[in-house]
Amino acid sequence: MNIFDMTIHKLHAALKGKQISSVEATSAMLARIESVEPLVGSFITVTPEQALEAARAADRRIARGECHLLTGIPLAIKDIFLTEGVRTTCGSRILDNFIPPYSATSWEKLRLHGAVLLGKLNQDEFAMGSSNESSAYGITRNPWDTTCIPGGSSGGSAAAVAASEAVATLGTDTGGSIRQPASHCGCVGLKPTYGRVSRYGVIAYASSLDQVGPLTRDVADCAIMLEALAGYDPKDSTSVDTAVPDYSAPLTRGVKGLKIGLPKEYFIDGLDPDVQRAMEGAIETYRRLGAEFVDISLPHTDYAVATYYLIATAEASSNLARYDGVRFGHRAEADGLLGMYTKSRSEGFGTEVKRRIMLGTYALSSGYYDAYYVKAQKVRTLIMNDFITAFASVDVMLTPVAPTPAFKIGEKINDPLQMYLSDIFTIPVNLAGTCAMSLPAGFSASGLPIGLQLIGKPFGEETILRAGYAFEQATEWHTRKASI
Ligand code: GLN
Repeated sequence: MNIFDMTIHKLHAALKGKQISSVEATSAMLARIESVEPLVGSFITVTPEQALEAARAADRRIARGECHLLTGIPLAIKDIFLTEGVRTTCGSRILDNFIPPYSATSWEKLRLHGAVLLGKLNQDEFAMGSSNESSAYGITRNPWDTTCIPGGSSGGSAAAVAASEAVATLGTDTGGSIRQPASHCGCVGLKPTYGRVSRYGVIAYASSLDQVGPLTRDVADCAIMLEALAGYDPKDSTSVDTAVPDYSAPLTRGVKGLKIGLPKEYFIDGLDPDVQRAMEGAIETYRRLGAEFVDISLPHTDYAVATYYLIATAEASSNLARYDGVRFGHRAEADGLLGMYTKSRSEGFGTEVKRRIMLGTYALSSGYYDAYYVKAQKVRTLIMNDFITAFASVDVMLTPVAPTPAFKIGEKINDPLQMYLSDIFTIPVNLAGTCAMSLPAGFSASGLPIGLQLIGKPFGEETILRAGYAFEQATEWHTRKASI
């Protein structure tokens, strides 16, 4: 097996057993990045010197007998995470020259375990998008079919795993940005419960929805990553102070007797037939493994996209006010302070970001605030209550991740509404604040991966990981590789 195709747990065993060094593994990944990047474009910044230096340090640790599961493992992270001394753009021209003075807690935790940073991954600008086409640093292509989008906004994070350019990656998910690209690229992606992972040092898009999570080659790796990432952080007041369970040990417990809900609003007529078939296959597999299915309803699903695009844009318009040309990034020359603000922002932000700032500012403006923003908050509560009610009778829910497999580059970029609607199955989970995972569940007739979504109760990551692991053991979808 190629080094660059290994999972975290396989590479860890090889590092620990001294069959391979972290410098060898890191060099193999860097060579792989160099060979496939012209086709895929997953990275905004590659950091070879720092990576090799970190790999050498990891090898010294391993020689001393200190080998955590992540020590010496080459990872890459979305360019939304602040990394001390390494350029962080968030996919935007406005942060083109921004070098952060400190690192995000989530990356810092991995780094302290000895993980190696290969570089920073491409994404939609400020994480606004579902196709990775809104990045100021070029598009990322889907490794399974380079005429298709990889999904977004963590498109680089998913494509890098699928193209074997990193063992695992970090993404963020505000309305589906980990799960949808994971689904389109055939990897595992987990959005933890809001508050499970610190958001400190993650560039804010919509603060009440944003959450950090891993993208990996299999469920066991996902459990390893989540365990390292999760936990209370005094620097993020929304992180929750509850104990982090052992996510790996319970993986093998199986799904016998597990109650899986099928929300009827997610199995609609417009579902792509390949996606429909994959979901039927998954249901059949779980039945065979001893799970029980329950028909449920999440009645306010229809309002989720509209609610999300009011709340997320309102929060974004406020969060993005800080990019004024004074404190961060790009500054334009102009007469007077107001002129400088206006020109810096006009030049620095792309079309989609501007659209969202305008939408959000409108929703928050006096006269419209009650009609839009306050109304959206009320509907958010109804959506949350749908989940609470449904979870009284089931342990997890099974749904598609996206209504179709990856679409063509350029197909939806001029039709924002169509783009927004592609997140219909992922957005409600963020509004409800709970956890969900995407994992490989089949392929379309044209060979594109299709993901399955398992939604868990708040802080029920352990259960969805266990259910995901059981599915993975019973199927071979996750073993297929893009032939790039
Ligand atoms: N596609 C959604 C949006 O554009 C979700 C993005 C995300 O989760 N960051 O807002």
